[in-house]
Amino acid sequence: MREITPQQAKYQSECTARVKKLNLSRESAPRACVVTYGCQQNESDSEKLRGMLCEMGYLISDDPKTSDVVIFNTCAVRENAELKVFGNVGALKHAKRKNPDMIIGVCGCMMQQPHISETIKSKYNHVDIVFGPHALYRLPEILERALKKNRVFEVENSDGEIAEGIPVLREPPPLAKVPIMYGCNNFCTYCIVPYVRGRERSRKAADILAEVRSSAEQGYKEVMLLGQNVNSFGNPVNSDENISFPQLLRMVCKTDGIERVRFMTSHPKDLSDELIYAIAEEDKICKQLHLPIQSGSDKVLRDMNRGYTAERYMERLDRVRELIPDITVTSDIIVGFPTETNEDFEDTLDIIRRARYDMVFSFIYSKRVGTPAAKMNPFLTDEEIHRNFDRLLEVQNEISKRKNDEYVGRVEEILVEGESKTNPEYMCGRTSGGKTVNFKGGVELVSKLVPVKIIKAQTWSLTGELCD
Ligand code: SF4
Repeated sequence: MREITPQQAKYQSECTARVKKLNLSRESAPRACVVTYGCQQNESDSEKLRGMLCEMGYLISDDPKTSDVVIFNTCAVRENAELKVFGNVGALKHAKRKNPDMIIGVCGCMMQQPHISETIKSKYNHVDIVFGPHALYRLPEILERALKKNRVFEVENSDGEIAEGIPVLREPPPLAKVPIMYGCNNFCTYCIVPYVRGRERSRKAADILAEVRSSAEQGYKEVMLLGQNVNSFGNPVNSDENISFPQLLRMVCKTDGIERVRFMTSHPKDLSDELIYAIAEEDKICKQLHLPIQSGSDKVLRDMNRGYTAERYMERLDRVRELIPDITVTSDIIVGFPTETNEDFEDTLDIIRRARYDMVFSFIYSKRVGTPAAKMNPFLTDEEIHRNFDRLLEVQNEISKRKNDEYVGRVEEILVEGESKTNPEYMCGRTSGGKTVNFKGGVELVSKLVPVKIIKAQTWSLTGELCD
C-alpha cells in the first residue's frame, strides 16, 4: 500500500486548474452527472467524483442525457447490476450523437475486470474514459486527456494508493459517509471484491478524524464509517498505526457536533468483545449491527471460505445481545451457492429463525468470473433456488414484522433525514437501530433528533407521531 506522493497530488491539482480555466472560458458552465450503482463505498466514491468535478468548474446535474460529462460508477458484485450498466451506457449513444463533445466515462469495480473493460473498449465506441477504483483520484488528469479527444483506459491492477485531500461533495446533512479502509483480504470464494478493490489498507486515524470534524463543522450529525471489514482496521498487515477499530470508534465519538456513529461491515469471524463493549458503552454508537452470515450450513460456510461455523456465529450474536439487548441486527444471505443442497438451505432457515434478524438482505448467488466459486458446479436447479429464495423471504418477512410490532407504543429518538419518499406531508428518519420511521412534520426538523411515538409497524418501516 502506498500513499499518493505530493508530486502526484500537485499534478492532479494542476490538471484541475487547467480544466477549470477551460470551463470558465465557456459561455455557460458545463454540467456533469455521476450515476452510482452498488454499495455505500461506491456512493462515497461518487461523492469524491462530484467534488472533483465541482472543483473543475462543472455544475452537478442528475440528468445524464443533458450533461456534458457523464460518469457511471459501477459495481461488480452481481450480474444484474452489470447488465443494467451496459444498458444505461448503451442508451447514451443517441445523446452523444446529438452532442459529440459529450464525455462518457465508466469507472468503479466492474472496470477492474479485464473481460468487461475489453468489452467496453471494443463494443462501446462512444465511451471516452474507463478507469478502476485505484485511479479515482486521477480524474482531473484523465478528464483533461479526454477533453483533448483522447480515449483513456486506466485499469491497471494495483493494491491501490490512499489519496487524502480529495474534495468531497456530499449528500446534504445529516449523514456523512466516511471510508476508513479500502479493499479486502478475506477472499470469500463467491466474492469479486478482493480482485477488483485490492488488498486491505487502512487510512490514518488522524485523516479520518479530520474528515469527521470537518463534516461536523458543515452540519452533519451522523457519520457512517465504511470498510469491507471494519474489524480489520488498524491490523498491522494493512496499517502502520496501532489503533484498533473499537479504539477508532471511541475517538470518533469524541467529535463535537456528531451525535451518532454507525459503521459497515463487520465480518463475524473478527467480531471482538472489545467492539461489543464499545457499542454497549458509547452512547453515540448506534445500537445496530450488520453481521452477514451468508449461510446457516457449516459445509457451505466452509466452501465459501467464511472462517466461522454457524455455532460460532451464534455464540458471537448471543454475546452481542447479552451486552446490548435492544440492538438491531441485520444480515446478508446468499441463496443457491453452487454447493448448497436443499438440506443446507434448511440449515439457513433454522439459523434465521434462531437469530431473529430485524432484516435480511438476501440475494440469489451470482457467478463472478475469476472467483473460485465460479468453477463449482451448481447442485440445485434454478427452479429450486428460486423456490428456496421465496421461502426465505416468507420466513424473514414474518420475523421482521414481529420485531417491528414490538416497537408500537415506544418513544424512539429519531434523527430526521428529510421528506418521506411516498408522502410529502410526512418526514422520514431513523432510530438508533437504523429503523426507518415516517411521521407527520415539516422540513424544519431535518437534521434534528426528535422524540417520536411509534403507532404502527410495517415489515420494512414504522409509522409514528411526533411527541410534544
Ligand atoms: S469479506 Fe468476503 S464478502 Fe466481504 S468483501 Fe471481503 S471477500 Fe467479499
